[in-house]
Amino acid sequence: MALIVVDFDGTITESDSLVEIVQTHAPQLFDELEGDLDAGRITLHQCIEREFAAVRGDHDTIVSEAVGRVRVRAGFAEFVAAAQAAGHRVVVVSSGFEAIIRPVLLRDGVPEVEVFAHEVRFSAEGGAVEFRHGDQCDACGQECKRSVVAALRDGGEVVYVGDGYSDRCAALAADRVFARRELARDLAAEGVAYEPFDDFVSVRAALGL
Ligand SMILES: [Mg+2]
Ligand SMILES: [Zn+2]
Repeated sequence: MALIVVDFDGTITESDSLVEIVQTHAPQLFDELEGDLDAGRITLHQCIEREFAAVRGDHDTIVSEAVGRVRVRAGFAEFVAAAQAAGHRVVVVSSGFEAIIRPVLLRDGVPEVEVFAHEVRFSAEGGAVEFRHGDQCDACGQECKRSVVAALRDGGEVVYVGDGYSDRCAALAADRVFARRELARDLAAEGVAYEPFDDFVSVRAALGL
């Protein structure tokens, strides 16, 4: 039995719901803070906190717009069902928000899965983020997903599926990695083996499910 850890934005989904919200509501700040993050001037949590503080409006409206934009990558519901039927534990670990993740999974018929994510509450004064995971990481010194994976692993194989910045450190601690986009580039640059993926039909086939 394996622990299968799957990122949400850009991995389960075709585009990044967080990026889309911030680019829509605070485009200039987005460019500035992403630059600061890439340069190591701010942490990921600081970046998320500052970006969403600039997103102002009605909570339900912003959430339903975001959920409506999100497209789930082909084969994800079937992948989860097959993995669970084979006795594997599938967990979604996200630097995004449960308020968006849960309705998307429900809408797309994904079987019940554990979700480890943060939460946000939008208002006219700006979004308030509640960070729920990501203790200071021994490996990278930042608040990162690796600690979540470390707490969940039980001695069996760990499979990681991800696409971005927040997956880099956790993916290095996994036994098998499926990567795309930024995560794939980072792992390639570090000489770390990974398997590319475009949808969950191929991930499922690669895992023999
Ligand atoms: Mg992602
Ligand atoms: Zn780390």
